[in-house]
Amino acid sequence: MSEKLIFELSKEGRCGFSLPEIDVPTKESLIPDKYKRDSEPSLPEVSEVDVVRHFTKLSLLNYHVDFGFYPLGSCTMKYNPKINEKLSRLSGFTAVHPHQLEETVQGSLQLMYELGELLCEIAGLDEITLQPAAGAHGELTGVMIIRVYHKKKGHSRSKILIPDSSHGTNPASVTLSGYKTVQIKSDENGLVDLVELKKAMDEDVAGMMLTNPNTLGLFETNVVEICNIVHEKGGLMYMDGANLNALCGISRPGDVGFDIVHFNLHKTFSTPHGGGGPGSGPLGVKKELAQFLPLPLVRKDNGKYSLVYDRKDSIGKIHSFFGNFGVMVKAYAYLRMMGEEGLKEMSECAILNANYIKKSLENLYFLPYTQHCMHECVFSGRNQKEKGIRALDIAKRLLDFGVHAPTIYFPLIVPEALMIEPTETESKESCDQFIDAMIKIAKEPTDVVKGAPHSTVVKRLDEVKAAKDLKVKY
Ligand SMILES: *Cc1c(COP(=O)(O)O)cnc(C)c1O
Repeated sequence: MSEKLIFELSKEGRCGFSLPEIDVPTKESLIPDKYKRDSEPSLPEVSEVDVVRHFTKLSLLNYHVDFGFYPLGSCTMKYNPKINEKLSRLSGFTAVHPHQLEETVQGSLQLMYELGELLCEIAGLDEITLQPAAGAHGELTGVMIIRVYHKKKGHSRSKILIPDSSHGTNPASVTLSGYKTVQIKSDENGLVDLVELKKAMDEDVAGMMLTNPNTLGLFETNVVEICNIVHEKGGLMYMDGANLNALCGISRPGDVGFDIVHFNLHKTFSTPHGGGGPGSGPLGVKKELAQFLPLPLVRKDNGKYSLVYDRKDSIGKIHSFFGNFGVMVKAYAYLRMMGEEGLKEMSECAILNANYIKKSLENLYFLPYTQHCMHECVFSGRNQKEKGIRALDIAKRLLDFGVHAPTIYFPLIVPEALMIEPTETESKESCDQFIDAMIKIAKEPTDVVKGAPHSTVVKRLDEVKAAKDLKVKY
């Protein structure tokens, strides 16, 4: 099945609606001539049925988590219960306006307040802002807070430490905030090299951004010592908490020594993502940093909720109004439904699934780091490369088995990386289906794998051309 562009379906004069002739006098346009376009817009002329069939066909070409297994490492593409969507559409939440008086939106304020409390409890932190719209936005907010913290103390520091296994958004946030990134090498176990860290840590370092578990899916076993090394020289510890579905109910970042943590509600806490929809990247901090959080914050006094605007050290607003409220409703509903035990089980299942896949494939695919993993595992396509098969070929071949490709070529420190995150919502059967496909691929002749995908509507695309010769206009 293929589908033309909607412009190619256009037939002159065809129309998707019919209206009666106007039977009242028309008025001169109120729009001044200088604001009017010179020519008619070039829009496709199609009937209603053309439009409906066109978009239905396009939707069937799309792969999504409601369709099948989606092991995209570092992305947590898990299944999200539909009930949360329904709850976020309740008119009590959708028919309020951010400018309404506080006493008329007590329920919404309560939801934000309690969501913040729950997230602080999960991460062992004291206060939180729900404003950031994504993980990267939370990072930027966090690094801005690191900057004002040092400024307030009268220091001017210029560097932030980041391990070489980090997510690309970390150095980007650091650079955007005007700091220099100093990369810390990983040791032979894929963890932060403490000797390197000690060498790099000095009084010009404002802090360190660390992902835990790191992007190799490994728990930073020396995390307490890492925090101590950075704190001793006056730096702050930032944890990239995008991968929190590995830790809930197991380890709290605030307890091991982190000062600032961002959450990805659209990964861990049940908002679907990947389609470019709204996200949410709340940022929690320890008490000493709470004065710098963006405003407003929600306060609770004698059972009444109100908005706090009176903190003179705040870094200011980083999103209009309060952030993406609908996402908060979904996260809140999810947390309340899961409860303490449920959340812990979520993390345990995420870890179990990843280790099951790791163990099942370790004889066929090279494992650069062999220790127990957390919510994801990273293989290298090194063995396959000797036969001329690249990680990209394996990813493409998986499409023929009805599986979404995993993350490839990331993290950068693993050559031919295949980064697999099954997530906790997958059953043993769907993990097995993936494992079987990977075993079959490992045993297939080179040309079959290199020629993949064979069964998809669109075969292998010229990705260089797609990037260099971008055609966005018909
Ligand atoms: C996804 C992710 C981010 C960025 O989150 P966005 O919401 O996409 O901006 C940052 N760090 C890690 C480790 C991630 O997995």
